[in-house]
Amino acid sequence: MSSSDNEINESASLSLGLFPEVVTLFVDVIVPLPLPNLLTYRVPAIMNDMIQVGARVIVQLGTRRILTAIVARVHQDPPKKYIAKPLLELLDEAPMVTTYQLELFRWVADYYMCHIGEVMNAALPSGLKINSESKLQYNPEFDVNTPLTETEGKLLEAVQEKNSLSTDEAARLLGQKDIYPIIKSLSKKGAVLVYEEVKEKYTPKIVKKIRLTRDYEDWEPLKDLIDELEDRKQYKQVGVLMKYLARVPVMQNRTANADGLEKSVLVKDDISESALKTLVKKNVFEEFEIIISRFADVPYSGDDVQLSDSQQLATEKIMSYFKTKDTVLLHGITGSGKTAVYINLIQKVLASGSQVLYLLPEIALTTQIVSRLRKVFGDQMGIYHSKFSDNERVEVWRGVLSGKFNFVIGVRSAIFLPFDNLGLIVVDEEHESSYKQYDPAPRYNARDLALVVARLQQAKVLMGSATPSFESFYNAKQGRYGYVKLTQRFREAQLPEISLVNIRIERKQKKLKHNFSDTLLTSLKDNLTKGEQSILFQNRRGYAPYVMCEDCGWIPHCHQCNVSLTYHQHTQEMRCHYCGFTEQMSHQCPVCGSTRIKTMGYGTEKIEDELKLLIPQARTARMDLDTTRQKNAIQNIVQAFEAGETDILIGTQMLSKGLDFDKVSFVGIFDADHIIHFPDFRAHERAFQLLTQVAGRAGRRNTQGRVLIQTGNPELFVIEKILQNDYEGLYEKEIPERQKFNYPPFTRLIRLIIKHEDEIMAEEAAQALANGLREKMGSRVLGPEPPLVNRIRNQFLKDILIKLEKDNINLRLIKEQIREEIQKILTTKQFKQASIVIDVDPM
Ligand code: ADP
Ligand code: ZN
Ligand code: ZN
Repeated sequence: MSSSDNEINESASLSLGLFPEVVTLFVDVIVPLPLPNLLTYRVPAIMNDMIQVGARVIVQLGTRRILTAIVARVHQDPPKKYIAKPLLELLDEAPMVTTYQLELFRWVADYYMCHIGEVMNAALPSGLKINSESKLQYNPEFDVNTPLTETEGKLLEAVQEKNSLSTDEAARLLGQKDIYPIIKSLSKKGAVLVYEEVKEKYTPKIVKKIRLTRDYEDWEPLKDLIDELEDRKQYKQVGVLMKYLARVPVMQNRTANADGLEKSVLVKDDISESALKTLVKKNVFEEFEIIISRFADVPYSGDDVQLSDSQQLATEKIMSYFKTKDTVLLHGITGSGKTAVYINLIQKVLASGSQVLYLLPEIALTTQIVSRLRKVFGDQMGIYHSKFSDNERVEVWRGVLSGKFNFVIGVRSAIFLPFDNLGLIVVDEEHESSYKQYDPAPRYNARDLALVVARLQQAKVLMGSATPSFESFYNAKQGRYGYVKLTQRFREAQLPEISLVNIRIERKQKKLKHNFSDTLLTSLKDNLTKGEQSILFQNRRGYAPYVMCEDCGWIPHCHQCNVSLTYHQHTQEMRCHYCGFTEQMSHQCPVCGSTRIKTMGYGTEKIEDELKLLIPQARTARMDLDTTRQKNAIQNIVQAFEAGETDILIGTQMLSKGLDFDKVSFVGIFDADHIIHFPDFRAHERAFQLLTQVAGRAGRRNTQGRVLIQTGNPELFVIEKILQNDYEGLYEKEIPERQKFNYPPFTRLIRLIIKHEDEIMAEEAAQALANGLREKMGSRVLGPEPPLVNRIRNQFLKDILIKLEKDNINLRLIKEQIREEIQKILTTKQFKQASIVIDVDPM
């Protein structure tokens, strides 16, 4: 039959009413791009039965671009202003994104004033977003016995050979345009992994193992073999066999053989290796590999945590608050064992059949906490970490959907996981500013989103901190949150004793050695003599914040940003901490030619350097952004310190985040002043949090720890409160000022950042925007003003701050007005090159 016959027949049968009329469906989809509108596509009729909200689809945008989109709505209304293109592929038979998530995405886009596509982008791991630039990689975990079609086989071979293949290359290779069905099928069969870009290769941890082959699982053949080997004096082989039998109870239990033994246990030297090789050749042993999870070395022990009396009491209070309140703030001093309280509550919620999400700041999510939780929760716990490969994140996503993981511990983006039955969200270290995403949009705060997610799913939120954010504490005081305190350290451990050293006086008395006070050095040395560990805190990385010519005063600056370059000695570079620009350290001044270039100020690198001279016998290590870029770097530093291989750990604020070290009895704070003098309304709150948290690393067991703070301003109120561990004292002093000057928690802030390559244009655009806003919102609008660093990446920056009262205000209308005013500026011809960032609730 020719195709025209076919057509005739088809229309004939339609008109005869033999087939039901096929409806044309359309979908509105979210694409992962900053676009204001959802896009409408036509659903090819064959997908009609399967298409559903929350499924991923492949769409073409423009003439070339291929993207993964999420179906947000299915309907029958063709778009009025354009002809809808058909969907290219439907990726999921069941929704990959739940209706709760779609609602959350909308909420986030609305509240944080960004596009829903940007939210999608932040929420979905890239492995769930195939696009025309996606790369395919061979999945090392692929089961090679899986049947493949010829085309699939061809593509997979190419992927394997080339290590990675872009979807464009794949299309060229197969000589066909429409390759998404093949990629979809290969990925479904577990043959390939799809990456947005190849950042790191997913390499599962593989262990080589040995077991007896089927033929030798029984005693008879085995005994014959051993006799034979002994006759031939092949004692090495006998030795290997005996060793295996001693470790694996094959005779008692056959399944023990199936699990085998790690090869490394059996093979200790060349001789045993060659003996084993022979036995494998003879088909007595066989080698096999297993893939183990990254945290597999931490066994599930079914451990139950025994709460102390005060922890028990706190738990009961929290539960009773949850009867009437959705959120509880657990204010527990460092070392009080907040984690034990969380564990207890999490167990209760999981037992009731609900899901649990446990949020932690990135850096705190190390093996320390994971192993503590693993022991209790075993495999039902998923880990969602940005240092994990994308594939691992996809696994957690799918695991939540399939019910494999009822409990996930994760960093801020875990708030976007596809839960649908949450009972509890724990936000640990809730004061941490790393819950806020700075760049790119959505500039969300996961702590605040926890409340939104909880509301959508009728879950409870437990926030915990030793130093709560003033916002949360205020909410607790207002009765909006339940408030529970833990005032004792676990097992009678005591809070450290904090003392000061006045660096100004010591300087005058010429007692400083490279800014190390006598007291600080003596304390570090004493601790070393006692065989105890110390932490030295300085919140600046690199060697020196800047360098200067001693003769003419020249200071090298970044040529793209208005900041001095930081000197990194290790790489002999000057580096911009804002844009990443680097240049060789210059040893001669380009202005006056002098070679007297002096390093100014102290970064962690310099401190470690000088410590090596001042206390040469100490083993030091450093933990800052520069030493922790590698995937397992944090882990390694933490483990070496735990194992006692390091005496003094020098580090930045990374050290303050929930790490629990047994043997640290002394913490030195090198320079408290630059933290306190930061020009921000939260500076004192931050300083208190940071210094108290760092101090809290000391003396977690038995002996009381000591903390020494070097400062030139011992008279400051905030310093006094830190010494007294008086959180509420500081709060009571600061809060009236916040109220007086209209800062959070009394207002909501929206920060607008205007960027332009030209300084005058930046100023004019910002002025025009501020004027427009002022007409509508009056004195709520402040600025424009240049921020502290007023040029970054060749863009001049201007800040406008909008302070909005919390009650009796139409936030929706205000945001609408802000959007309009921004739109006006961006569509004004002369400001075309300007860009404007909106940051709601900036931190
Ligand atoms: P926080 O987070 O409140 O600073 P942690 O939860 O890290 O405190 O607890 C401090 C230390 O005390 C940890 O080493 C922890 O293992 C131990 N700990 C606290 N509570 C218990 C408990 N109920 N049983 C056993 N160990 C506990
Ligand atoms: Zn000079
Ligand atoms: Zn720069």
